[in-house]
Amino acid sequence: MPMISVNIDSLVPDFVKRFEPYVPSRPDDVLKRFYGCDTLYRMNNNENPLGSPPSAAEVVRKFPPPSASIYPSGDSFHLCNELARHLQVSPEQVIVGNGANEVIAFVIKAFCREGDNIVTADKTFAVYEWLAEFSGFEARLVPLREYSFDEQGLLDHINARTKIIFICNPNNPTGTYWSREQLESFLDQVDGRWIVVVDEAYFEFCTARDYPDGIRLIERYPNLVVFRTFSKMYGLAGLRIGYLVGSPELVQEVRRTVVVYSVNSVAQQAAVAALNDDAGHLSRSRDMVARGKEFLEGELSALGLEVVSGQGNFVMAKLPISDAYVYQKLMAKGVMVRTMTGFRFPNWIRITISHPEALQACTRHLGRILEQSDPDKGRERG
Ligand SMILES: *Cc1c(COP(=O)(O)O)cnc(C)c1O
Repeated sequence: MPMISVNIDSLVPDFVKRFEPYVPSRPDDVLKRFYGCDTLYRMNNNENPLGSPPSAAEVVRKFPPPSASIYPSGDSFHLCNELARHLQVSPEQVIVGNGANEVIAFVIKAFCREGDNIVTADKTFAVYEWLAEFSGFEARLVPLREYSFDEQGLLDHINARTKIIFICNPNNPTGTYWSREQLESFLDQVDGRWIVVVDEAYFEFCTARDYPDGIRLIERYPNLVVFRTFSKMYGLAGLRIGYLVGSPELVQEVRRTVVVYSVNSVAQQAAVAALNDDAGHLSRSRDMVARGKEFLEGELSALGLEVVSGQGNFVMAKLPISDAYVYQKLMAKGVMVRTMTGFRFPNWIRITISHPEALQACTRHLGRILEQSDPDKGRERG
């Protein structure tokens, strides 16, 4: 029988064709074999190396197999109630998604129609831009100003077809943040005309005194949406669970675009347990990050590198040589960092704060790699 001929290409919209598929990194076992290392320090994804709070880990361990055969709660009922109680909002103000990544898509779908655009920074978490563009909406990108979101630049890029402004607070990867005063001033200027998303994926890591809790501003600014996630501080990245909080009238609209059953049962139950864990895990994680950041800032500066470090569990450093080359060399030593050239920071790397031994391995090997590639030192050695 002849094969049916299909012109698949002609069925694909141009805005999808323009888009290159994302190439995720290989699983750890494949990477270890490829680079020939027995251990791998993962410092590429801002995960919490302390894992999840013990009670959440217990939920995962004890998840009853028969529950795997039953659909999860379609609206994460218990988790929404628990979040509402913790955040002092009403459950109707919360939507849980398959990672914060999914709630980004919900908001874009709810507000953008053909010809609309979103506004965000050029060097920030790339998913806002990607989701907008492969959905057929323009992403208007505003250059960072001193590594930070530029309030006036954002306002200048808004036009008649703008629907949503995405602010990453603190910004991944630069760690810069808007103070409460700056955020309020921006929201006052927006004056309710557009949706403002504040992505607080690193909220639980933030220790700066003037760092604002966006959720407390929702009552005054009903056009504000706040994103949070269980992937970073709560160490549940593999279960994929995040959420948004907004005013009841806004969330009611976004709820129309929600994909039912996208959040699995283990994730919902582990997240409830994580929220109710005593403060031990959070403070231990914050201590580890504070110490690790100080260590990294010192060591990287001693290597003569420009370092950008702020809130969040990561720092960036600018290399005098190719980030891709350094990545390969570090991987051979079992150290995995994030190359940033693809994120418009040519030859920068981003390093997630981890255990002392991981950070020491990272800076020690990085130092050697830089030394070996330094042409002057190469000559000295003859
Ligand atoms: C990691 C991250 C997220 C994604 O969180 P998931 O819940 O894992 O999808 C969202 N925003 C920022 C800024 C992040 O760094």
